[in-house]
Amino acid sequence: MSLLKNSVKNSEKWQGSPESIAYRPGPGVFLMLLAVATVAVAFFGFFFWYVPTIGLKNIHPALPYITGALFITTAIFIVGGTAVITAAAVKGTLFFYSPLLRWFLVKVFLPLMVMAGGILRVPKIKIERIFIDINNQMVLMMKKKGRLIPKKILMLMPHCIQFDNCKIKVTRNVRNCAGCGKCEIGELLALTEEFGVDLFISTGGTVARRKVHEDRPDAVIAVACERDLTSGLQDSYPLPVIAIVNQRPRGYCMETGVSMVEIKQALTSLLG
Ligand code: SF4
Repeated sequence: MSLLKNSVKNSEKWQGSPESIAYRPGPGVFLMLLAVATVAVAFFGFFFWYVPTIGLKNIHPALPYITGALFITTAIFIVGGTAVITAAAVKGTLFFYSPLLRWFLVKVFLPLMVMAGGILRVPKIKIERIFIDINNQMVLMMKKKGRLIPKKILMLMPHCIQFDNCKIKVTRNVRNCAGCGKCEIGELLALTEEFGVDLFISTGGTVARRKVHEDRPDAVIAVACERDLTSGLQDSYPLPVIAIVNQRPRGYCMETGVSMVEIKQALTSLLG
């Protein structure tokens, strides 16, 4: 009881930065969202009862045609988008790109595939791999539309890439790395000199998102596991991100690695 009292007391005293939220915010936002959701459900319920009962034609003579055109356009877009994405997944080549197609991939295709995969018990990692691969193809096609400035490209690495016994703190300043060769950070640092790009070693997803938010890069080369890359790609959309799956000889989050060949390929593709 006294613990609860203390936490309430602390939350009342809380004085964080204006962008942050109190540790224990009031129920206002939740209640507002609940009210909006209830009204929306009631509205849609009424809508789906009212329209078939009255008939589109009786609401407005042009409505059946407008609705038909809308459905046909949406169906063409969905079927066309699915065909392009399927071809990219099967053949490994994207033959068409538009920003709308990437939106479709990130906002529609991926959630639908994850839902279908959940029902059919397809391992999520397989869906994430395909998603990452198609995303990378799209980003490379996006890049053809304009030249990128090297210093506006950010290489984002997870801190688990660092050699476990290295005592040097590279998450604050990667230039602290002595380049001993026991992990890839030294080589990555050399690439920043060679290509003029930026490098950041992140302690976690939130820090990585903050870095992207603060620096506003034009493109990102991100290395992580499938799950983190997928959520990062969704959160950072529409930012172009080339996602590279890490190597995990000792399992997740422990002395992971990255293929320097893939990193160089990504850099040359973005800057070439
Ligand atoms: S390359 Fe840099 S970060 Fe990696 S172990 Fe050596 S000094 Fe540490």
